[in-house]
Amino acid sequence: MIRDPDLLDQLLDTISRFVRERLIPNEARLAEEDAVPPELLEEMKAMGLFGLSIPEEYGGLGLTLEEEALVAMAIGQTSPAFRSIFGTNNGIGAQGILIDGTPEQKARYVPRLATGELLSAFCLTEPDSGSDAASLRTTAVRDGDHYVLNGTKRFITNGPHADVFTVMARTDPHHKGAGGISAFIVEGDTPGLKRGPADKKMGQKGAHTCDIIFEDCRVPAENVIGGKEGQGFKTAMKVLDRGRLHISAVCVGVAERLVEESLHYAIERKQFGVPLAEHQLIQAMLADSKTEAYAGRTMVLDAARRKDAGEDVSTLASCCKLFCAEMVGRVADRAVQVHGGAGYIAEYAVERFYRDVRLFRIYEGTTQIQQLVIARNMVREVT
Ligand SMILES: Cc1cc2nc3c(=O)[nH]c(=O)nc-3n(C[C@H](O)[C@H](O)[C@H](O)COP(=O)(O)OP(=O)(O)OC[C@H]3O[C@@H](n4cnc5c(N)ncnc54)[C@H](O)[C@@H]3O)c2cc1C
Repeated sequence: MIRDPDLLDQLLDTISRFVRERLIPNEARLAEEDAVPPELLEEMKAMGLFGLSIPEEYGGLGLTLEEEALVAMAIGQTSPAFRSIFGTNNGIGAQGILIDGTPEQKARYVPRLATGELLSAFCLTEPDSGSDAASLRTTAVRDGDHYVLNGTKRFITNGPHADVFTVMARTDPHHKGAGGISAFIVEGDTPGLKRGPADKKMGQKGAHTCDIIFEDCRVPAENVIGGKEGQGFKTAMKVLDRGRLHISAVCVGVAERLVEESLHYAIERKQFGVPLAEHQLIQAMLADSKTEAYAGRTMVLDAARRKDAGEDVSTLASCCKLFCAEMVGRVADRAVQVHGGAGYIAEYAVERFYRDVRLFRIYEGTTQIQQLVIARNMVREVT
């Protein structure tokens, strides 16, 4: 749902200009320094990017999902690591508190998350539980007016820097599945919360992950999200439904950038006396990538509109994540191919994007998990 087309156009124009004039020129620096330049972080905060999908009453921009998808597609035109820090913050990091938190929890954390004063992260994955998230082993044992958390969370985006963590932990040891899990808000300076060294990743340099280790970490009982035990897995799944659409939109944006990079290169570079773009086999790659990016854009916007209209889009969000993450992988592969040897050389953006996009098929549910979710929901609907 688009509430005010003129206002949205202004926002999209501002973001596109920021991407073109500030982020794209700093892509190589981001990768080399493995950090978002601090002045760009401040500019992102000033533009409200840390609170994109946080309601206006908490100081965010309060975008609908369709509006957020359009913004994510615009941001996707540059290195995904720029988006990772604020996308995680007001996405998977904050949404658990927003969707299921008590009024006190929202009032305490969300306004400061919206401005970027606090940075958040989402802790579901563990060393022995990734795709099978419901089997997680981190425990939270009630002790008076606190819970004592023990366990390790793995690959946590924003982990090295976050001030606030949404942590899924097992409060009912007798219930081995999803029903035994509760979600907690854990502040980053709580004694017993330790951060492992930053992971060395294949791509998306500048976006940081690490282990988050809980050793007898005492968390106030009032920090159980929603104030009720046993709801944490449901909260995590609601957060991921939304997150999957956001990531799908980013995949579309990146694919569109790669189509543009490929097209320009194919027009400029000549072989056999004519531009590459005149060779039909190159044209086939350009056309396939353009078509797939367009298909992705269309399906993400459709699912986002449906979600805004109140439909349950769990299946469609997985359809989008499955298609868009795989699609951008194919588009990146063709972009390297169109560039020939240059595509394998770090000086060209496509080499970096080729590595960056590999992650989209893995996190927030792998491609195989999206396939399982879609098929399971399809079968459930008719039986
Ligand atoms: C850079 C990065 C950032 C991340 N950020 C976060 C974060 O912020 N918070 C967080 O909680 N997690 C995060 N993750 C974790 C991510 O969500 C998991 O890596 C992902 O869910 C896969 O889990 P796994 O790595 O344990 O792989 P596994 O679950 O071990 O899967 C390995 C392979 O087996 C396949 N597989 C597993 N089960 C089945 C099945 N039933 N049928 C068919 N195939 C199957 C998978 O699809 C995959 O191909 C991040 C990961 C990375 C790499």
